[in-house]
Amino acid sequence: MKKINDMECNIREGIFMEKWKCPVCGYVYDATLGIPDNGIDPGTSLEQLPDDWVCPLCGVPKEDFKKE
Ligand SMILES: [Zn+2]
Repeated sequence: MKKINDMECNIREGIFMEKWKCPVCGYVYDATLGIPDNGIDPGTSLEQLPDDWVCPLCGVPKEDFKKE
């Protein structure tokens, strides 16, 4: 009998280790951590953030963030 590895099933492609950096202030959005203080759950990629989300430090729109 083969057992399915639950851990493999739970991995969401492209989420883990994803980091985005603000080009102005250097703030790093870590998708693994999210921003719990702002209601952003851990595991939320930059694409999944609201379109009007901006850098919490300097207000740069998310489109300007650079993937690390
Ligand atoms: Zn910034």
